[in-house]
Amino acid sequence: MNPDRDTIAALATPVGTSAVAVVRASGPACRDLAAQLARQSVVPRRAVYCDYLGCGGALVDDVLLTYFQGPHSYTGEDSLEISCHGNPFIAQRIVEDLLARGCRSAQAGEFTQRAFLNGRLDLSQAEAVMDVIRARSERALNSAQRQLRGALGARMEAMIERLVSLLARVEAYIDFPEEDLPPEDRGWLEGEIERLGSETRQLRATSRYGDILRDGLKTVIVGRTNAGKSSLLNRLVGSERAIVSAEPGTTRDFIEECIVVGPHCLRLIDTAGFNTEATGVERLGIERTRKLAERADLVLRVIDITRWEDVAGDLAEYADEPATMIVVCNKADLATPLQRQGAVAAGACVVSAATGEGLDDLSGAIARFADGFKPRDNEDEIAINARHAEALARAQEGLAAAGDKLRSGVAVELVASDLREVLAAYGDIGGRIDNERVLDSLFASFCIGK
Ligand code: GDP
Ligand code: ZN
Repeated sequence: MNPDRDTIAALATPVGTSAVAVVRASGPACRDLAAQLARQSVVPRRAVYCDYLGCGGALVDDVLLTYFQGPHSYTGEDSLEISCHGNPFIAQRIVEDLLARGCRSAQAGEFTQRAFLNGRLDLSQAEAVMDVIRARSERALNSAQRQLRGALGARMEAMIERLVSLLARVEAYIDFPEEDLPPEDRGWLEGEIERLGSETRQLRATSRYGDILRDGLKTVIVGRTNAGKSSLLNRLVGSERAIVSAEPGTTRDFIEECIVVGPHCLRLIDTAGFNTEATGVERLGIERTRKLAERADLVLRVIDITRWEDVAGDLAEYADEPATMIVVCNKADLATPLQRQGAVAAGACVVSAATGEGLDDLSGAIARFADGFKPRDNEDEIAINARHAEALARAQEGLAAAGDKLRSGVAVELVASDLREVLAAYGDIGGRIDNERVLDSLFASFCIGK
């Protein structure tokens, strides 16, 4: 990162036709640019309506131009937002004009990276910016917004504060090697290390929930050929995406769809059926289906209710993994009362992909299942990502090592060095990262203009 920063510019809204497009610039040249472009004096944060004239004097569009004076801006430095008509051609001409006036094309995530480097956001908040943009469900958005407002950062700060006073207590003894740690201090230290350890573990346990919020609940639809898996997926998606066919064994390739069920996002995967007489290509598909099902968060096992007597036996086979499975008895519109009774008694969801019957109940069951991943005692909706999980794992190791050393009575300075590792790991979450490469790769996963 360049210490005397240049001025960057990029389109901040998607490329394509829309009512309005926003071009954004950030850096020291913004104040002059604002005055030049508006051809009048500009007041920070007050939008100016003006004609945008290119370098050569040609009219580009009528725009709304807003100047933000650092540090009161997204990036923390002088910046500029130009709203034009949402024609990609206009937006492109404005970006090109800004480049002609000396700006540089912004890289992915560079605005947010500057916000971080200027202390506007900690690293967990910067990551949350992307999560907010990408969130596809109410829960995911809620969690991302809390993180953007600093929920995770605040939790880490509190833990860091406790760790620092712990470390201070330990370090006080390093200067007096002749004195042994009094037992009451030793007890307090051990207890506090234990408590921090369990808090770290709790926080780390939100990682699975985080994966589910960010990527969607990975849901695999399995069941015999012709049970109605593709029809059910289509019903849930609300569009005819999967190939539905009366011929057994049409669904060879996996079809994946993201849908929102209640407050959750599902990544639904339709699979080839478990046809026991399958041969060749079909067999391969079945093998892949089994592998997919093993790695899924949720398995929707679809059964043709009219063949309930045949398949009831199959259920027993899956009885040992009910925690990840919802049994769906499909074709309720064709079922006899007895078949219905049997399915209900077995705790299955009775639905009809043809008529839509029972689908609300199924959605409810899916939503309850997804809710089960949210750790209890997690009011601030924290859901950590893989980077946080890695740092917390390091912290946990350090705390365990420190606890062991304290109990075995080794020299306190060894305990202190473990605790310092923990401190560094905690710090990484909020982002006292001074490794430029790590930062660059982290922000590179952002989109341009953010
Ligand atoms: P898959 O092989 O499990 O994916 O099954 P499909 O979705 O391709 O459906 C197989 C056949 O069952 C098709 O002819 C569907 O129209 C039919 N089908 C699917 N769901 C229902 C349902 O709820 N009721 C009725 N009557 N037919 C259904
Ligand atoms: Zn199918």
